[in-house]
Amino acid sequence: MEPPAGAAGGEPESLSSDLSYQRERMVRLVASRGVEDARVLQAMRDIPRHVFVPGEMRSQAYGDHALPIGSSQTISQPYIVAQMTALLDVQAEHSVLEVGTGSGYQTAILAKLARRVFSLERVSKLAQQAIQRMRDLDLENVKIQTFDGSVGWSEMAPFDRIIVTAGAPSAPQPLLDQLAVGGKLVIPEGGRELQRLVVYRKTKRGTRRQEGEAVVFVPLIGRHGWQES
Ligand code: SAH
Repeated sequence: MEPPAGAAGGEPESLSSDLSYQRERMVRLVASRGVEDARVLQAMRDIPRHVFVPGEMRSQAYGDHALPIGSSQTISQPYIVAQMTALLDVQAEHSVLEVGTGSGYQTAILAKLARRVFSLERVSKLAQQAIQRMRDLDLENVKIQTFDGSVGWSEMAPFDRIIVTAGAPSAPQPLLDQLAVGGKLVIPEGGRELQRLVVYRKTKRGTRRQEGEAVVFVPLIGRHGWQES
């Protein structure tokens, strides 16, 4: 594939075309690491990741790494966001629950793919910032609340898809209960420092569990997660 037009010349570039060039590079890197889902990659082209990182980190926004977002939390690495979203297999008619809004970057990617996105964040300041970002980007199919997401959001259940973006000792039972039949839950499960991506599929006959790659997430703190240390 060719780089975007106008990006490789000797002339100084406008900031915006430089950022879209960096974003395209990020998307290609993610694709080269094995994420093939075209809709996920397009959503990552559409959502400006630099809007979700603190001002002083903007120049690093399109590197393939997690970054601090304040309140001791992080915005996830682009490859991990892509991989989890691809595993989730979100369809246009789906209602999705996200636990751990953080910066709202993953939320925005989901909003491009799903009918409705409900997202819960325990740190009110992060939730407020994410709500503002959804407004700025005109993402109107998202609802964000400050709440312990380890208990889910029963009023809005059942969900076709649930994604947890904080590490849990095991999948919270309320989330499994709030998953629709035919639904999928993606969650990092394991220790406080290191987890594995786990996919649950709920069928009429029961729930299947499949373990995937090793990942590092901040802990899910709450009633069905870890205790605050
Ligand atoms: N997807 C986010 C990742 C944020 S890190 C992003 O890319 O920006 C995980 C987030 O989960 C943190 O913001 C943390 O505050 C939040 N969190 C931890 N425990 C939680 C809980 N029980 N309910 C809701 N959010 C929680």
